[in-house]
Amino acid sequence: MSPFLCFREVSESSVLLCLKKRFHCNLIYTYIGQILISVNPFKDLRIYSEDVATMYQQGTLSKNAPHIFAIAEMAYTLSQSSGQEQCVLISGHSGSGKTEAAKAIVQYLTTLYQGSDSHRIRQPCSVLPILESFGNARTILNDNSSRFGKLLDIHLRHGIVVGTSISQYLLEKSRVVFQAHGERNYHVFYELLAGLPVEQKEEMYLQEAESYFYLNQGRACEVLGKEDSQDFLVLVQALEGISLSDDQLNSTWAVLAAILQLGNICFTSYEKESFEHAAIASDTEIQIVANLLRVSAELLQSAVTHRVTVTSYDRIFTPLSVEGAIDARDSIAKALYYLLFEWLLLRINEWLAPWESDCAVGIVDIHGFEDLGVNSLEQLCINFANEHLQWFFCQTVIAQEEEEYSQEQLAWIPISKMCSELCLDFLTAKPHGILCILDDQTSLIQATDHTFLQKCHYHHGNSPWYTKPKLPLPEFTVQHYAGPVTYQVHKFLNKNRDQLRPEVLDIFSQSRLKVVSHIFQRAKAAYSQRRELGGRGRGLRPQASTLVSKFQQSLQDLTAKLRGSHAFFIRCITPNPRKLSNVFDVEYVNCQLRHSGILEAIHILKEGFPVHLPFQSFLARYGLLAGSRPSSLQQREGCAAVLAHVLGNPSDLYQIGVTKVFLKEKGRQLLERRWLQRQ
Ligand code: ADP
Ligand code: MG
Repeated sequence: MSPFLCFREVSESSVLLCLKKRFHCNLIYTYIGQILISVNPFKDLRIYSEDVATMYQQGTLSKNAPHIFAIAEMAYTLSQSSGQEQCVLISGHSGSGKTEAAKAIVQYLTTLYQGSDSHRIRQPCSVLPILESFGNARTILNDNSSRFGKLLDIHLRHGIVVGTSISQYLLEKSRVVFQAHGERNYHVFYELLAGLPVEQKEEMYLQEAESYFYLNQGRACEVLGKEDSQDFLVLVQALEGISLSDDQLNSTWAVLAAILQLGNICFTSYEKESFEHAAIASDTEIQIVANLLRVSAELLQSAVTHRVTVTSYDRIFTPLSVEGAIDARDSIAKALYYLLFEWLLLRINEWLAPWESDCAVGIVDIHGFEDLGVNSLEQLCINFANEHLQWFFCQTVIAQEEEEYSQEQLAWIPISKMCSELCLDFLTAKPHGILCILDDQTSLIQATDHTFLQKCHYHHGNSPWYTKPKLPLPEFTVQHYAGPVTYQVHKFLNKNRDQLRPEVLDIFSQSRLKVVSHIFQRAKAAYSQRRELGGRGRGLRPQASTLVSKFQQSLQDLTAKLRGSHAFFIRCITPNPRKLSNVFDVEYVNCQLRHSGILEAIHILKEGFPVHLPFQSFLARYGLLAGSRPSSLQQREGCAAVLAHVLGNPSDLYQIGVTKVFLKEKGRQLLERRWLQRQ
């Protein structure tokens, strides 16, 4: 039950068995090669105290006992000795413990390496409640699931933590307007309703959570064990902590209250010139939204029931159908929330900014590979990100292997292209990668989800990474490195467009609430900049304007950063789907191991000579197989004699380096068999 599994020799079953045995002894951490595997215990193991941290810092516990703190300490030490940026990549399914792991690393670094009192910095831990309230929600898999990916950079100077910067990836906007059964909207809404004093609630026209369509769809307004009113106080304290003024705080509540009102706007339809048109059923909610956000109620009403087309002469108002009106309403709610989130993050970053730093430890906590049964564009993006990180992971593993070959002066055998690399090509290659087709289609007015799907079928019908549905359903299947996932194309184009209509931007930019006008003016500036650059044509960096292209851009930035850093990998695993402690479901874990990409990396290594044995170890075991034990001065020749004798000469089962023998698994087995026969 070793805490270390050698990367080169493991198989699926040996990993599983080892993890299971250790899990049942409350040993949740195990290394496979350089990767730390962490199995969520779903109970408090009391292994994150300051005392334990100090033991890892001082090395009084065996330096090698696997622990998240050991990784944090290694990252810190390397950053100090090499000056190179360090990055810890945490991945795994929802609920597997990624965010807790990230928190533990932040906590480790900030408590052990903080300055003396006069140099005490603003602590990143103190802003985490803000991110949790606004970015986390209850889902089926996790009562406190982060619905965004994040990168935390802990900046150091002279070995002391001096500041933090935080970036976010892909906040799940759809949750603001829709929740599946048993799920909630973002925590902050419920916290606000539970915690705001009564008078203030009345001023904001606020009622019970159950009365809001945007909160009650999942029929689960309460989370067992979570005190929303208590958490509201914590949130307010954290927001005041980053120096938000009363005014800004009130505006924040006003935006949230307005979102809830928007969700309760109902539409009726009337017929005009034999088309169905939408009208709002009662203007109470619109009035309230307008009051809360200090914008014009008439303009707002027109924006949710009409589309404006600007021609060179005129503005043409086209009435929307009820479905179109609901979309218009929802997109305003999502934009309000998203822009508020972005603005808060900006404020947090200003507050945490280091004044100067000489190196950094980055922590990446990003959604793991996902297959929800019903998958949409969000899942395609998440899985695309995982393909990307998997590719980076395999490259790192291969680079380490290649380095060892070169040190041993062996010819490097080029390894065939990785599954993840090929799948990435299939997704992003120009001009017909799936994501390119999507972006092209998104820019065409007459294109629909259906024409997008037809294009994919047409260009990829025969691709090994793509499967058409057997029945004519609006879906396609991608063969990811971690397994096949079927995506429903419904709303793909709309979600990818990811843009507010200019007239909506105008309405809110003119709000008399400072925060609101500020965030919309920023959005408007970004929008016009994109249009302007987009119009200038070729030669410029392609302008990211769709959801997919923006996300691709941020992934490229992340990968560039990772390339310049030394990377640590943590793979988090959920032991069972029911969040139980002490239950290890082998099938369930196996599936996640496959998704973790470790098995793919093992397969890649097996294309080369995965078993590496130093001459001395080799001779100690197999030395006698050549007949006579060779003299210790000529270890290399001794090894060569044994290998030639048992495996033949020349052999494609082995290579001999400067200090080590390199074997195929088959070669090792043959040697082992011969050794057993002699016993
Ligand atoms: P993820 O970010 O991967 O979705 P979280 O980090 O939010 O998952 O963890 C989900 C839940 O699992 C936590 O709320 C906590 O109850 C439990 N958990 C996670 N990691 C640990 C740990 N190391 N020890 C004890 N419980 C944990
Ligand atoms: Mg999380």
